[in-house]
This record gives sequence, structure tokens and C-alpha cells, in this order.
Amino acid sequence: MNLSKILLKLLVVILIYTPFSSHALENDCVLLVYHRFSDDGPKSTSTSPEIFKQHLEYLKNNNYSVLPLKNVISSLQSKESLPSNCISLTADDGFLSIYTEAYPLLVEYQFPMSVFVSTNPIDKKYASMMTWSQLREMAPLVDIYNHSVNHLHLVNQSAQIIEDEILSAQERIATEMSTNDKFFAYPYGEFDDSSYSYLKSEGYIAFGQQSGVASQTSDFLNIPRFSMSGPYAQMNSFSLKVKTLAMPIESSDPRSMIFSGDLMPVLNLNFSRELTSYEKSNFSCYVSGQDKVNLKWDGLQSVSIWPNEPLAIGRSRYNCTMPYKEAGRYYWFSKLWLRL
Ligand SMILES: [Zn+2]
Repeated sequence: MNLSKILLKLLVVILIYTPFSSHALENDCVLLVYHRFSDDGPKSTSTSPEIFKQHLEYLKNNNYSVLPLKNVISSLQSKESLPSNCISLTADDGFLSIYTEAYPLLVEYQFPMSVFVSTNPIDKKYASMMTWSQLREMAPLVDIYNHSVNHLHLVNQSAQIIEDEILSAQERIATEMSTNDKFFAYPYGEFDDSSYSYLKSEGYIAFGQQSGVASQTSDFLNIPRFSMSGPYAQMNSFSLKVKTLAMPIESSDPRSMIFSGDLMPVLNLNFSRELTSYEKSNFSCYVSGQDKVNLKWDGLQSVSIWPNEPLAIGRSRYNCTMPYKEAGRYYWFSKLWLRL
């Protein structure tokens, strides 16, 4: 046996017995969503300005590429490569603290952010919200996108209300900001078939509030973002989330977050490649407010997930993780459920 054959055999042995297969360089981006920048706002939607500064400092010191959302989406859509350590910052609603607390830090660090605004509170000149002129002042570092007119739950609404909420906000933003990118963030991260289908037919890209990582195989009408408010903003949570990767999923079923009848809904995940046995045995999921879930595997590329107890009324999540080949990094997937 000559040397090259020995080396080839050795390589095969290494590939078979390495716990992680070597895949192509992952090509995805972690999107973060903030709401208020305040020490005394509601905990679930507030991030301390001091902690936000620590986030930006961490991103700078660890060589993250903080990109505008539109660049990330166009790269994912055209399947162009993104820098590794890709991050994009977003903030929903349009609170004044974005302008007074976050924007000066964005300028200091020269990091872009995308802000999804609900237009009616701005048009009404509520004191807690930014003004159109403040929004214009933050351009081009801060891009402004659509978060509906009145911030209604876009579930079980009439076709007319859905159109009014989305189209009228889009027109107001186009008038005030001279931009017309069709990016929409669902209020509360919630949608049903009608609002989803409207956005799809009108050519929008839409963003949710479930945790996870944007990738070329994401549902472009429900792109995940990690919440960075309250306890999730703490540095141990932040540093874990920013280095997550998109779970290698080809498809998941059902698409809908609304379920009825069976209160322990089954989620089916089809992976885009065969998992290694190490990955499979370390793939784990839990349900918000409950313990670990049931997993039923079909080979190395498909799994069904369901909880032990009925999901509560309101929102629930199945969160799934799997270790990446680098220690301390995880693939992440989250499914949001809505029990009406
Ligand atoms: Zn919102």
C-alpha cells in the first residue's frame, strides 16, 4: 500500500469516527431584537442602556461583523456568502429611548440598526415614541421598516384590517422616510394564514420573535430573531446567543403557530443532512414552562417533537439545540405556538 492510499484510509477513519462531521462553513446570521433601552421600563421589553453598551463592546472586541439587515437579507436570498460572526441589530416599536439611549452608542461604535415602527403612535406624537424627524436624523446608520399601523395582533383579523395595518404603514414610512423596502416585523411575533399569505403575495420579507438564526433555508416570511430584553440581555445569555448557528433544517411542519384540538401539538423537523450519531444523541428540546419534550426519530434526518403536558393558553415555545463542532457553540431552533 503506498503512502497516499494509507493517508486516504486514515482520512476515512478520521471522518467516520470524528464526533462532528465537517460541513461546509456555516453561512448564516444572528439577528437580535430590542424594544426599549431603559433601566425602569417593563422588564420583558427593556434593556438597560449600560448592558446594551456591553453588548456593543462585546461585538467589537470579538470581531463580529455587524451588518445592516437589508445586506444580510439580500445575501441570504442571493446565496452569497456572509462574513462569519455575522450579526444584525433590530429594535421594534419606535420608542424614544432608541433615539436618546441607543443611537448615541450606535454612532460611537458605528454599528447599524434596523428599527421597525408602528406608524400611528408616531403620527399621534406620543411622548414615549420617536418623531419622524428623529427617525430621519438617524439615517443612514438606522433603517426604518414596517411594524404595522396600530400594533394589533395579526391573528383572526379581517382581510381589510390586515391590508390597512400593513399597506398604510408602508405608505406612511415611504412618505416620511423616502424608503420602500418591504420588510415587516409581526407585532408580538404573531401571524395566522391570512396575514402570512398577504405578506407573501405582496412580496414582503417578514420577521418573527422566535429565537433562532437566519439562514438561506429560513422561511423568509418568519425569520427568527433573538430577544435581547430583560434576563435575555444578560451577558452570559448574550454571548451564548450571538455565537449560535441555524439548525440544519430543510423543512418543518406545521408552519402555522395556531393549533386547536390536540393541545400537545407535534412538530416535525426534517434536517438538511444526516446528523452524526453524536449530534442526534445531543439534540435536545424543551417546552417553555415545562420539562423536556418527547422525541421520536426516523433515521438520522427526521424527528417528531411533542410535549408531555397540554400547552397553556397564549404563547408557548419549543426550543431545540444541538452542539456545534466548536465547544460552547450550538445550533438553535425555536417554534412559537399560539393557543387562542
Ligand atoms: Zn412590537
